[in-house]
Amino acid sequence: MERDISNGLLYLQDYPKLWKWINRCPACGSLGHKPELPESLPQSAAPGNIRKYFPCMPLTENGLCEQCHQSTAVKPQSLNRDAPPESN
Ligand SMILES: [Zn+2]
Repeated sequence: MERDISNGLLYLQDYPKLWKWINRCPACGSLGHKPELPESLPQSAAPGNIRKYFPCMPLTENGLCEQCHQSTAVKPQSLNRDAPPESN
């Protein structure tokens, strides 16, 4: 399901405080809301709106989105391939 992130960014321009609920992956720039975004906030439509504009995007322990985490996880193999073979 495609979500219109650009509308979400416009929404965040109006409510910059809501950035605290947004994760941004430093590697690919993907935006998503934090999993800990509450179901509802008192006198605020923010949670529903944020969910409308942004997918849920937890960041892994190294601060990357799931996709980048997986792509960095395969990197050591390609690095090993480029490195000269160890001779015993
Ligand atoms: Zn990413």
